[in-house]
Amino acid sequence: MGQSYNVAVIGAGTAGLVTARELQREGHRVTVFEKANKVGGTWLYDSLVESDLLGLDPNREIVHSSLYKSLRTNLPRQVMSFLDYPFVKRESGDTRPFPGHEEVLRFLQDFARDFGLMELIRFGHEVIRVELVDEVSHEWVVESRTRETESRWESKEEVFEAVVICNGKNTEPKVAEFPGISLMPLHQLSVTTTASKCMNIVSLCGSCWDTWPGLQMHSHNYRTPEQFENKIVVLIGNGPSATDILREISPLAKQVHLAFRGSDIMLINLKNYDNAWPHSPIECAHEDGKVVFQDGSIVEADVIIHCTGYKFHLPFLKSNGIVTVDDNRVGPLYKHIFPPSLAPWLSFVGLNYRALVFRVMELQAIWVAKVLSGKVKLPTQEAMAASVEEFYEQMEKAGWPKYHTHSLQNDEGEYASWLAAQSDIRPPKSWEEITFFSFVKGIFGHGENFRDTWDVDKWIQEIESSD
Ligand code: FAD
Repeated sequence: MGQSYNVAVIGAGTAGLVTARELQREGHRVTVFEKANKVGGTWLYDSLVESDLLGLDPNREIVHSSLYKSLRTNLPRQVMSFLDYPFVKRESGDTRPFPGHEEVLRFLQDFARDFGLMELIRFGHEVIRVELVDEVSHEWVVESRTRETESRWESKEEVFEAVVICNGKNTEPKVAEFPGISLMPLHQLSVTTTASKCMNIVSLCGSCWDTWPGLQMHSHNYRTPEQFENKIVVLIGNGPSATDILREISPLAKQVHLAFRGSDIMLINLKNYDNAWPHSPIECAHEDGKVVFQDGSIVEADVIIHCTGYKFHLPFLKSNGIVTVDDNRVGPLYKHIFPPSLAPWLSFVGLNYRALVFRVMELQAIWVAKVLSGKVKLPTQEAMAASVEEFYEQMEKAGWPKYHTHSLQNDEGEYASWLAAQSDIRPPKSWEEITFFSFVKGIFGHGENFRDTWDVDKWIQEIESSD
């Protein structure tokens, strides 16, 4: 048995649950703080939406989950399994390979129950401060609050030797900005608008913003399609949320317009929809409701839905500037997990995306638990810092934007193998081939009904037998 520490885990979504399990397996004493009253995080569907549909008001009542009611997974259950806990088909459940969100929640609830995690979780406890109070004995204060009445909160401070942050990354909306819809005065906007169709906005309101009169929302607050009946809707983005929402609203809406960068790959064939059109990104939006696209096309729209992703948000972390969120880079972090100067006492599990995230989170959790117990050694602080620097330099040389620091799009297989090797785990060889990216390719091969037409079992078997 290695060293055992008193560890706080923040969040009881997928990352927090699998981290709690691994820490407990390694003999650590674990307390999980969860602001909701149930496990599941993102997979806990909430029909409520936020008062500010763009999610910009810092004082809004935050709704954690971004799921829409009809959501089915975009990855098959086979790769949303854990190493020794497969996401199996239950006779009484949703047996589809790409199940509805309720099935994922049940899987996570079963996981928490079967590994005795429920007793470790403090439900209804929102962490409002995580602060290092003693560097030598690595004492962290975790302050949490519970709601006593509608308007009264009770807060409490506790001390831990280590903290693992698993608070999720799909709650704080990132929105698109352009003249006419901007959160900051026009002169601070990074876009320069030269199109003559937009000049009147720039000259009319030299210092004003957000003059477009229609309804705007972020996909975080999209639940069901009814409110878009007979509306002209512009969707910004081309990821899974944009394409799912397009498919769902187009039978009801008058028109749907998808604005996305030319370099983005189309996940949907718009030719199958007689009221949907592709466009280049939006150039500007006018006071009279017109939306102007960079390709010169103009649409008089009622609604704009920003399907533009999310921002990391760590309002509770007081690290004296050691860990920052800069252009969606949480850093500096060694291998997306440990800040070199605070390792191993502070860590993050679940920051990565464009990956088979359940698998990656499990490998990260195993590594964190073993590093804490002393069974696996980290490099020196200097070596970790140098590795982070090298990674940032490589990103820069490759022209990879900073905000994609935690995307594993290009190196998921390598990263997962590296993590597995650290903890002496030998995953099946097929893992190198079965990555998020190979699924994206598969989706293209099977068209937009991939969830119902793709025999994923057969595909995986073929890869495994070719090992
Ligand atoms: P979350 O699930 O967000 O959990 C974070 C937890 O932390 C929450 O329970 C939250 O309440 C809690 N918390 C946050 N702040 C605090 C605080 N201050 N104090 C206490 N508790 C706090 N992944 C897939 O593998 N397959 C899919 O098909 C898929 N589809 C997706 C569809 C959508 C629309 C979205 C948004 C994501 C999807 N994902 C999918 C990715 C998804 O994010 C991951 O599957 C996974 O749920 C992330 O787990 P997490 O634990 O990191 O975060």
